[in-house]
Amino acid sequence: MEPLLGCIADDITGATDLALMLGRNGMPVVQTIGCPAKDTPWPDEAAAVVIALKSRTAPVKAAVADSLAACGWLQAHGVRQIFFKYCSTFDSTPTGNIGPVAAALREATGGGITIFCPAFPANRRTVYQGHLFVAERLLSESSMRDHPLTPMADADLVRFLGRQLRGEAAVGAIGYAIVEQGAAQIRRELARLERAGVPYVVVDALNDRHLASIGRACADLALVTGGSAVAMGLPGNYRSAGWLPATEGLVAIDRPPGPAAVLAGSCSVATRGQVAHMAARCPALKVDPLRLADGRQRIEELVAWAAERMTPGPVLVYASATPEEVAAAQRKLGPDRAGRLIEEALAGVARGLWRQGLQQLIVAGGETSGAVLEALNVKALKIGPEIEPGVPWTVSTSPDGLVLALKSGNFGQPDFFSRALEMLP
Ligand code: ADP
Repeated sequence: MEPLLGCIADDITGATDLALMLGRNGMPVVQTIGCPAKDTPWPDEAAAVVIALKSRTAPVKAAVADSLAACGWLQAHGVRQIFFKYCSTFDSTPTGNIGPVAAALREATGGGITIFCPAFPANRRTVYQGHLFVAERLLSESSMRDHPLTPMADADLVRFLGRQLRGEAAVGAIGYAIVEQGAAQIRRELARLERAGVPYVVVDALNDRHLASIGRACADLALVTGGSAVAMGLPGNYRSAGWLPATEGLVAIDRPPGPAAVLAGSCSVATRGQVAHMAARCPALKVDPLRLADGRQRIEELVAWAAERMTPGPVLVYASATPEEVAAAQRKLGPDRAGRLIEEALAGVARGLWRQGLQQLIVAGGETSGAVLEALNVKALKIGPEIEPGVPWTVSTSPDGLVLALKSGNFGQPDFFSRALEMLP
């Protein structure tokens, strides 16, 4: 299929979420884990490729370099548009990566105006007057305040981006009153701002209708940035232009006959609720960074414990902990070491179980999913049916046939894990 859209996502679960959004809107898509090697061909079956990086919490320089390399691969295959995907809760730090990566990609794509829109109304993330809301709270008053790696203390996206860009360029805004008037009005406002020398624009969105209008208004932008939801309008643009045939974007996935496991490394409120729900229904083991650090918990023992119980399964291994527990571990070990110990442990469990025949795996947490897929050496995923907004079942093409669901920490209802495991035919 003709390469149309090239996407760069700053973490794995975000990439999957975006790939699902494109697939659901009729755009055949393949997700790669990391930037494909230079000589890797464009996958024939795809009109969009989503490259999942692990750049959300990487040092700025590395995040920019990885994003530019991914952009280079996509451009070398002739994509018509680049999409930079970050979290719908804008996960980053004031000195962090979203602004600098967007700036580098803007330059690499010709220096035109670009938008920022993390809104994902189906998951109750909205942007109003340039401020990001999680349900009815400002981002800075939501549980994102307590995120172990990217605590978000400012909901004013214009100010926050200005800080990340160190005042090097103007950040404008398009408020919902304009967005409400539709695509043509948004396009006019973008053109006006571009003439006024504003390269970056935060765009309000309260509902999917707004996102559809924004998507249409961005048809001619070389670079679009946002959460997954703002990409919902892009496949329609390609169809209107006659570039994208009417096709089914998602693949069918059958439930594999072998064992299933759930690994949770996210400490979000949603994941903690899901862990509690699942722990009442299947064998469950908690991993503790302090016990890993002093050798009271060892990865081989975790693997052995889970392997013994995964048939008939499922089995749950989790590190998800309360903000107080996380703070206590971080005081003793530092946030990086605590996070790394957990990621290594859960990745080690995934590898150990895979060697012993695991066929179906759910992972909760973006960083955690990145670590797990690296350990399993997963290179590419096809996107299957949606479990809940933003989370599909996927199937790995190499290694062949592992069925995976990668859940962003914040997503999903309390019974997410059990429902996901029951839904495949
Ligand atoms: P989310 O999708 O919620 O952001 P992530 O997996 O991206 O989840 O991030 C959660 C981070 O918190 C990971 O780096 C993980 O290793 C770390 N973490 C998990 N449990 C603990 C814990 N008990 N103490 C300290 N850090 C933890």
